Amino acid sequence: MSVPKRIYMDNHATTPMDPRVLEAMLPYFGEHFGNAASRNHSFGWEAENAVDQAREQVADVIGGKPKEVIFLSGATESDNLAIKGVVEFYRDKGNHIITAATEHKAVLDTCKALERKKLATVTYLQVDQQGRVSVDQVREAITDKTILISIMAANNEIGTIQPVAEIGALAKEKGILFHTDATQGFGKLPLDVSELGVDLVSGTGHKIYGPKGCGFLWVRSKGPRVRLTAQMDGGGHERGMRSGTLNVPGIVGLGTAAQIAKSEMTAEAGRVTALRDRLHRLITDELDEVYLNGHPTHRLPGNLNLSFAYIEGESMLMGLNGSAHGDLPAIAVSSGSACTSATLEPSYVLKALGVGDELAHTSIRFGLGRFNTEEEVDYVAERVISEVKRLRELSPLYEMAKEGIDLKQYFAGVQH
Ligand SMILES: *Cc1c(COP(=O)(O)O)cnc(C)c1O
Repeated sequence: MSVPKRIYMDNHATTPMDPRVLEAMLPYFGEHFGNAASRNHSFGWEAENAVDQAREQVADVIGGKPKEVIFLSGATESDNLAIKGVVEFYRDKGNHIITAATEHKAVLDTCKALERKKLATVTYLQVDQQGRVSVDQVREAITDKTILISIMAANNEIGTIQPVAEIGALAKEKGILFHTDATQGFGKLPLDVSELGVDLVSGTGHKIYGPKGCGFLWVRSKGPRVRLTAQMDGGGHERGMRSGTLNVPGIVGLGTAAQIAKSEMTAEAGRVTALRDRLHRLITDELDEVYLNGHPTHRLPGNLNLSFAYIEGESMLMGLNGSAHGDLPAIAVSSGSACTSATLEPSYVLKALGVGDELAHTSIRFGLGRFNTEEEVDYVAERVISEVKRLRELSPLYEMAKEGIDLKQYFAGVQH
């Protein structure tokens, strides 16, 4: 078996660029360098045409209108603009936001910033053991001051898909705006803004095999027409909602990535799901006490988040990265989320599911994607199995458990 020097299985953190995307972008770094806002000459026109095409490509993935797409720097900015923009614009109507404890930090920290400034009050819904919120929880949280619901399409750590359409129907019934951070779901799950009843959708290029530093916010223009207070003042680009000279190569890349994602969505979801299930099966055929985090079926195709009882996720990462065995191919995966792995706090998402701290520390997120192969999956499974066996042999806890000593403390909180 030929195994490459290193294997990338962290596609929730970022994805490699699809070569077709890079090819589409290159002319816009060179010959077609114009400013899309230059109305007086062909350099500007060709840039503007390219941006218009990308707007269509992005809108097409979610069944929106091209003019409803605002280009900006990524999903973090998109979440910020959606939430802060609504809170500022609609402050006479109310100031209450409903979101969930497992949202991305781009949503959570935006809400916290608004709370700190006393511009909003926020309800953070708890999730069930598989990471879902229910439409009844949302209903119960609504007050006459609620102006925005922000619930993600799919979670970046555990892959859980939220009941977005049900929440959208409730939001419509109550006349409350509904934002979804669709960064992980866009281009991977069938998402249609009419069917989902969403009013604002955030996404980014680098999670769909496009470039970093370019994302979008889709803003409903009719039924209702959503208004936002701009968070960036300047030349009035993007219908005044986001000033700043457009990143034309990035936008072309995002558009191309969106178009490819749409046309290959069904086939790719099938292929990636099969790879993920194969990895899961190979691992659990060989190892006991491996627990799946997230929802077994309402889950992103490429997501496999597992807790390996009695090992340290960080030790496992070192083993897989190759730093423990210099000659083996390095395997890139995450323990916890990329955004929290700088500190050794157990992931707040796993905590929210009720996974105990000890077990949360044993978790590994495998993020499979477009460019992973069956050969890579088989190799990764083999390495994971041998690494877990090696680490468990060194673990006094594992030995105690095998001897029948009760380790309730260790599993405090595990209910699955
Ligand atoms: C990656 C990610 C973001 C942040 O996107 P950037 O484009 O890197 O700012 C936001 N939300 C979710 C769910 C993500 O996975």
